[in-house]
Amino acid sequence: MRYLPALLSLVFLCQPVLADGWEKAEWKVMGTLASLSYHADSDTVDPVPALKAELERLNAMLSPWVENSELKRVNEHADEQAVEISNEFYRLLQTSAHYHRLTDGAFDISFAGAGHLYDYRAGKAPDQDRLREAADTIDASAIELLPDNRVRFARPGMRIDLGGIAKGHAVDRCIDILRDHGIKQAWMSLGGDSYVLGQHGERAWQVGIRHPRQADKTALSLPVSDVAVSTSGDYQRYFVRDGQRYHHIINPGSGKSAGELASVTIIADTSLEADALSTSVFVLGVDKGLALVNRLDGVSAVLIRLDGSVHYSDDLTPGDG
Ligand code: ADP
Ligand code: MG
Repeated sequence: MRYLPALLSLVFLCQPVLADGWEKAEWKVMGTLASLSYHADSDTVDPVPALKAELERLNAMLSPWVENSELKRVNEHADEQAVEISNEFYRLLQTSAHYHRLTDGAFDISFAGAGHLYDYRAGKAPDQDRLREAADTIDASAIELLPDNRVRFARPGMRIDLGGIAKGHAVDRCIDILRDHGIKQAWMSLGGDSYVLGQHGERAWQVGIRHPRQADKTALSLPVSDVAVSTSGDYQRYFVRDGQRYHHIINPGSGKSAGELASVTIIADTSLEADALSTSVFVLGVDKGLALVNRLDGVSAVLIRLDGSVHYSDDLTPGDG
């Protein structure tokens, strides 16, 4: 399989430097870092202004922090009355419902009922009573998608958060923009969600998976092109209290941080799919998570457990030969 040789060697990321015609940009957006590397011909129009505008537009729609975002409007009113939303937001809710079904409930945007009780910067977590109350508001099947782009919550106090797919969707939109600019080789990433377009010069791109406990180390490196690569880790937003790690990937059944894995990397055709599945497989754990990935066409996974053991989907697992 196309990724296998590099996987076996667990090498550190080593991207050769190609100077001619390669442009780079980095900026902060959506609470993370956007990074872009692309090959420009002499007549290529700089895509960065269009990318920045698109990411700001998505942030204004999907952020739980931006005043008047569509997400905030829905959370404020949808448990009282149906709320009319944009086509794009409606489609993201349909996609979220799809992943909720596909993952047996592991992907659940109403995790936010418990999720908002954590403050990772301040090191705050809810007690058992608050969690029990919050559990009553978690169940994505109570999100009613009505005709004419309307949504209603069938449970009082329910709230949603699209953090599990927002960046994946945003990366896909950026790739569309890069293609519209005639760009054929690029690497676009938003935090842990990336897409590699075409090749890096004459060779495949090398995508490194960060070591979950050593920020400056790459756990392994994969040669890839024309695919999305998303990593979900327990080291991005977290705190440790009384020896327990609290992080931002929530098991919707308990309202607590999912506890078996340290990182999940998914390779898929679109960044949205890779993003949704990396979060979901993190919740599902090794056995159920790999069983799901192995059932899906065109999806590969590398899972790193808390004990440091590495687990691959069947298509990446070395055979006897
Ligand atoms: P990021 O790239 O944003 O760090 P991930 O792709 O790993 O994140 O997804 C984590 C985010 O997904 C959380 O910050 C939260 O917004 C959302 N999330 C957490 N748990 C769930 C869940 N069970 N289902 C859907 N979304 C979730
Ligand atoms: Mg994700």
